Amino acid sequence: MGLVAVRPIEGCGKLRRWYRATISVPLPILNVNVYLADGDPPILVDCATMAEECRDGMLAAFDATGVRPELLVITHFHPDHAGLAGWLENLGLSVAASVGTIELMGYYSRGRGPFEQTVRAFHSKHGTPEGAVEEICNVADWSSLISFPRHPVAFEPGERVAAGLMLVDAPGHCYGGACLWDEAEGVFLANDQVLSGITPHIGYEEHWTPEADPLGEYKRFLSRLRGFYLDQILPGHGEELVQWEDEVQRIEAHHSLRERHLLDLAGDDIVTAYETARRIFPGADSGIQLRLAITEAMAHLQYLVSEGLMERREKGGIFVYKANVGVSALERDLAPCEVTRGNN
Ligand SMILES: [Zn+2]
Repeated sequence: MGLVAVRPIEGCGKLRRWYRATISVPLPILNVNVYLADGDPPILVDCATMAEECRDGMLAAFDATGVRPELLVITHFHPDHAGLAGWLENLGLSVAASVGTIELMGYYSRGRGPFEQTVRAFHSKHGTPEGAVEEICNVADWSSLISFPRHPVAFEPGERVAAGLMLVDAPGHCYGGACLWDEAEGVFLANDQVLSGITPHIGYEEHWTPEADPLGEYKRFLSRLRGFYLDQILPGHGEELVQWEDEVQRIEAHHSLRERHLLDLAGDDIVTAYETARRIFPGADSGIQLRLAITEAMAHLQYLVSEGLMERREKGGIFVYKANVGVSALERDLAPCEVTRGNN
């Protein structure tokens, strides 16, 4: 099918006009929004997956909008957003991304060997059974979904990738993630940091340092968002956010609930990250769902440790977590968390 729909973003046109193109992707999330803008230079933000339907969708989006982009900006290095980067570079586009995204590209481009070693080492320390580790290694291998660009240009947060278009540091959903803020239009390209009606996946990934706290950084990002002049928020999936403050509040409430649930789980028993994931997402028992469940459970555990509400220690070579004394009496009558997740 390729291209699902193209529509102009209302109210733009001072420096450039923005268009949203929704392209179907061969992944559980089903489709992704990419954004095109005319102006100097014409810009494409994000580029779907390395698959024939996405290539067709991208070319159809160029025709439908009349925009022939010269610059591709990648918001974050996930296969639904960065897959066609190398292919588009071959068509003549320059590729730009944050320093962190380009670092992550380098990591994945080294092939499966080093990545698999890291994934195995991580999961063996966090209690994941061997069969599940094998499945996680398979789904974490993105080499068939992404064409790697050869000469990406790195930008720091706060720098402008084009006139009036600032790269904004956006930690949480993906290492090195960035948003783009078109100051003149009040348009904020939010990558997957804020989505309409969906809680973005915030995960601690296998190659991160023991000190990393993606959920804490994400919460600080949501607070910072309130300081921007924002007329419109354009997300990586789904519809534009009309009442974005309400969506931010919904996401914050969801995380608070989840944290209380985790403290409750780790109040009586010590738990591993794997056990935590299986208990809060009982339906996520294999493949991509299990990997997302474990990395999300880890993000919460890391946050609770960094906030001093939980402690982590090593027992028999495996990391275990326990709520600190006095914390575990928090609400025990919470409803179970939802089970199904998408790879946004
Ligand atoms: Zn996405």
